[in-house]
Amino acid sequence: MALTGIQIYKLLPKTNCKDCGYPTCLAFAMKLAAKQEELSACPHVSEAARAELAESSAPPVRLITLKANGNEFKSGNETVLFRHEKTFVNKPGVFVRFSDDLSPAEIQANLAPAEAFQVNYVGISLALDGYAVASVTGNPEAFAGAVAAIRNLSHKPLILIARDPQVMAAGLRVVDGETPLIYAADQDNWQSMAELARQHQAPLAVRADSLEDLAGLTEKLVAAGVEDLVLDPGGRDLATSLSRCTQIRRLALKNFRPLGYPIIALPAEASTPEIEPLMAAQSVAKYGGFIVLSSFTPELLYPLLVLRQNIYTDPQKPIQVQPGLYEINDPGPESPVLVTTNFSITYFSVANEVEGSGIPAWLVVADAEGMSVLTAWAAGKFDAERIAKDVRSFGVAEKVTHKRIVLPGHVAVLSGELEEELPGWEIRVGPREAVDLPSFLKQAL
Ligand code: SF4
Repeated sequence: MALTGIQIYKLLPKTNCKDCGYPTCLAFAMKLAAKQEELSACPHVSEAARAELAESSAPPVRLITLKANGNEFKSGNETVLFRHEKTFVNKPGVFVRFSDDLSPAEIQANLAPAEAFQVNYVGISLALDGYAVASVTGNPEAFAGAVAAIRNLSHKPLILIARDPQVMAAGLRVVDGETPLIYAADQDNWQSMAELARQHQAPLAVRADSLEDLAGLTEKLVAAGVEDLVLDPGGRDLATSLSRCTQIRRLALKNFRPLGYPIIALPAEASTPEIEPLMAAQSVAKYGGFIVLSSFTPELLYPLLVLRQNIYTDPQKPIQVQPGLYEINDPGPESPVLVTTNFSITYFSVANEVEGSGIPAWLVVADAEGMSVLTAWAAGKFDAERIAKDVRSFGVAEKVTHKRIVLPGHVAVLSGELEEELPGWEIRVGPREAVDLPSFLKQAL
């Protein structure tokens, strides 16, 4: 039973030391009760109080970890319904399904491009999280062979899909010592699947066609000693899937423990193939923890991973690059010096345009706390004083024989102040948009 804020407060040290980032223990207790903070943020809780608070402070969505040869994938620990309330924590994993009727040669041919897929998106490497192996033959040897074929080619975590416990046992033996996700226990096979999950200490997905049945099954499994569970609420059309996944998250956040687990979504089993991409995108937003696609399709995977990246970025911590002096196209002492901020998308927009122009240039990436040019300027984080400080501390004057700096056009208003901050330097105003930089640089040179 969840404790109220006042009940939690009574167990805290009540020193108001502020080490947790809140002005009082009461404020921290209220956040803890609302699942918007974690108990570990207070370093002064006694062991006795910690034990008493454990239930109340446990995340409403249990953390599930898959492991394989040093690779890990985590899902769960979510505490909010909407990202803007705080942040989403663990990105949903994207898995590609292979069936056990494929020959090892076919698996190799299909897996190689999936394994090689890697995209650099504003400095972040995007790739698949793992693979699902599905038994369609019902044959334990065929299933074990498919699992082995994939494991020989990849070290990513696996989801094993089989309804027959004997088939599942054959697959699990191949990856003994790893932690794959077992899919799935249902009303008919849950006892045997629970036994396999206990033996292999692996998380177990649970499948039912109503939330009531799903909750009933998870209670039985927990009573049987399996605590790491993943939910498949059924529903292979968009409306049913959205409705059930949203209800699960809402109930989990109300501390309804039988549904406090990550969700597995199977767009691979969508009611029609056309809606697979839509269901995958919907699951990224609402509230998939594991997403299984029917095949490796780069044109679906790339936008899906970018969508995921955008949704699972902490809104209070913009993606940023390290401030500093960046060299583009091997610049020399005569090359122009440009200035921008350290918001990742801003940096990559500018850097890509300059790189594409082929013109060598120095790029001063000022520390604007990860904000874009206009936002940082409006927030007072990108002003003449800060730019001048960075120009000096990055040693720009030692790299060039001229004294000219190009400001982003959006902050032309700073040019006068920057001239005062950097005596002897000529401040030029560049274009407002990065896309106009190549023509600006060609004219300016
Ligand atoms: Fe209270 Fe702990 Fe926060 Fe200090 S760190 S104010 S003791 S809750």
